[in-house]
Parts: sequence; structure tokens; C-alpha cells
Amino acid sequence: MTTLPPIALFDMKAQQALIRAEIDRRLASVLDSGRFINGPEVQELEQKLAEFAGCAHAVGVSSGTDALQIAMMGAGIGRGDAVFLPAFTYTATAEVPLVLGATPIFVDVHPGTYNIDIDDLKRRIALVESEGRLRPAAIVGVDLFGLPADWPAIEAICAEKGMFALDDAAQAFGAALHGKRLGRWGHATALSFYPTKTLGCYGDGGALLTDDADRAELWRSLRTHGEGKTRYEVERTGMNGRLDTMQAAILLPKLGLLGDELAARTRIAAAYNQGLAGKVQTPVTTEGAEHAWGLYSILVEDEAARARVQEACKAAGVPTAIYYPKSLHRQPAYAAAHAEGISNAPELPVAEMLCRRIMSLPMHPYLTEAEVARVVAAVAGAV
Ligand SMILES: *Cc1c(COP(=O)(O)O)cnc(C)c1O
Repeated sequence: MTTLPPIALFDMKAQQALIRAEIDRRLASVLDSGRFINGPEVQELEQKLAEFAGCAHAVGVSSGTDALQIAMMGAGIGRGDAVFLPAFTYTATAEVPLVLGATPIFVDVHPGTYNIDIDDLKRRIALVESEGRLRPAAIVGVDLFGLPADWPAIEAICAEKGMFALDDAAQAFGAALHGKRLGRWGHATALSFYPTKTLGCYGDGGALLTDDADRAELWRSLRTHGEGKTRYEVERTGMNGRLDTMQAAILLPKLGLLGDELAARTRIAAAYNQGLAGKVQTPVTTEGAEHAWGLYSILVEDEAARARVQEACKAAGVPTAIYYPKSLHRQPAYAAAHAEGISNAPELPVAEMLCRRIMSLPMHPYLTEAEVARVVAAVAGAV
């Protein structure tokens, strides 16, 4: 039926065309200097990331997952600790506490925002406290699809309970809440530079953001095997978690485009919202939030409707994806931890409902108006 070329779910080529010469020049400069580890591009990027977020310190690391791990290691999270996190997120959020010997406690999410549900969070903290086997140690708030979690509420709980507040902003760099960009909420903010994130490199990379100078210094030590003031003094158990100079060189020109790209994402999301209103449940933006639109995810009636819409989209050259088809507490790798964390844990009905009904549409800053119209027509024609 259609002879139009397929639309990209994410598009890295259109962006690359704008900055290819600058990337080539930056990479050539790294090749000439030979400073592949901790080269000057890493410090330059760290400074610019902190400036963009409006925070005091940025520390480049090897991935978003390693950013979460270094933050939790720095907070002393380990055996006997309960780490509260949403059940509806990417696997990395849950994997890190387990790697460190801690226990993830899966929390249900809010049906409108898809982010951690504060009432359910409080309920599960109370259950862990009353059972007395684990110490409530940390809350990981995930800004799913680019929408900031309820940070004032998470911060208040952490302050009251003496818990560590970690922002998994892997999908949300550039988002803001009440005039404050992510990077300044909680004790630490983890970013991922996986290629399809709002700021992506051409491989793996990540960063940690904070306003606390001591915390940033600790992270620098942890990313370099726990080294002390001199290179061969090992002060603590760390890891090899540095950001490559090559990736920093690629990220610098990309960071220069991020402001415009966030504006384009916002414009495209508004066009989707308008075109799809009343046909599917479109994503909400909460009061005071600036959404980064890392992904644009809608809810359809049920699994059968989703299969139908995906099929119609595919036929029209419109790719779709499902983030996420399975709640983490149902994953084989985490089911045992879920069963151990709280005996007879309450159900997670919203996470499971979202897994049946959610689907993501193409979202990148270089979608044209005509492409957005094609996506809207394909979805609207099939629901
Ligand atoms: C992508 C992602 C991560 C992991 O980032 P990597 O750089 O791939 O390790 C962690 N949490 C969330 C929510 C993510 O989307």
C-alpha cells in the first residue's frame, strides 16, 4: 500500500550529518594525542555536563549501569540492605543492588506517570521495617521515558529515614522539575550515554552528577579501582569504570545539539498528543515537569489491540517497540529476590497492566511533520 520509506524509531544518522566534521576533528585529535584513558576531552565533557545540568560536579563513567553501581558502592550499599525501585523499568536498575549483595524491593508504578508510586513505596518500606530482616537503605527513582519521578516526595522519605536517594536518569538527561534540571535531585544522578538515549555516544558511556564535592571525589576513586592520592595506593574496593576519551570526544559536539534536540522532542510529543488525543492514552507531563521525551509511549486497550496496532504500523513503515513486556518481579533472574525481600509481598497490578498495554512510537529530534502525521494516521487507523 505504502511506498514511502520506513520511519526510524531512533535516528542517529540525521544528527551525525550535522556534526560529522566536528566529530572527525575531535577523534583525530585523540588519535594524535594518544591519551585514550582520562584524556583532556573527559574533563572538558565533565565540565560541560555539569554546566548543562546546573550541578557542581559530573564524573564520566563507562555506562549507565556502572554509574548506578558506582553510586551505590559509594553509598556503602551491600548485604542486608533493601533497595526500593520501580518494577516497571529497564533491567539494569534492579541488577545493580543484586550484584552488590543487596536486595531489590520492587515497587508498583503510577498508572498515569509510569513512575514509582509513592503510596506503594511507603507501604513497602513499612513492610520491610516491620519484618526487620533488611535495612531500608536506598530508593532508586527512575525518570521513565524522560518524565521526572516525584523527587520532592522521594527526597522527603529519604531525609526522614536516612536513606540514599539515587536518580536513575538514564532515559531523561535534559528533563527538569520545578525549574531544577535532573542532576540536582536526590544525592546522586546516573546518566547513560547508550546510543539511543537523549544524549548518546557511539558505544557505551555514562556519568554521575552531584552537588557534593566529596561524593564526586569518591566516585573518581571508585571508577579507577579505588585508587587513593597516588596511583598505586588502593584505598577501597573499586572497579574499572572510566569513560573512554574517544566517547567523550564524540559526546562533546553532541552535547552542543542537546538543547535544540530537546525542544524538537517537545514539539514532536505535542503533535503526537494532539493527533492521538481521545484515541489512545497519551503520556502525561506532571505539574512543574519538563519532559525530556526519551521515549513516547502510549497505552492501548489490551494486548490484542496492541498486536493489531503494531501490525498496522509495521505495514505502514512505522516501527514500534514495547518497553517493557515483562515486569521485573516476574523476570526469572529476579523472582527469587522478589520472594525473599518481603514475605507475601503485595501484588504489582499497575506494572503488570502496563506490560500488557504499553507501546512506544518513533521518537527522535529529526522526525518531520509528515512523518509524525504518518505515525498518527497508522495508530489512529488501527485502534
Ligand atoms: C539504559 C538504561 C540503563 C543502563 O544504561 P547503560 O548505559 O545501557 O548501562 C539504566 N537504567 C535505565 C532506566 C535505562 O533506560
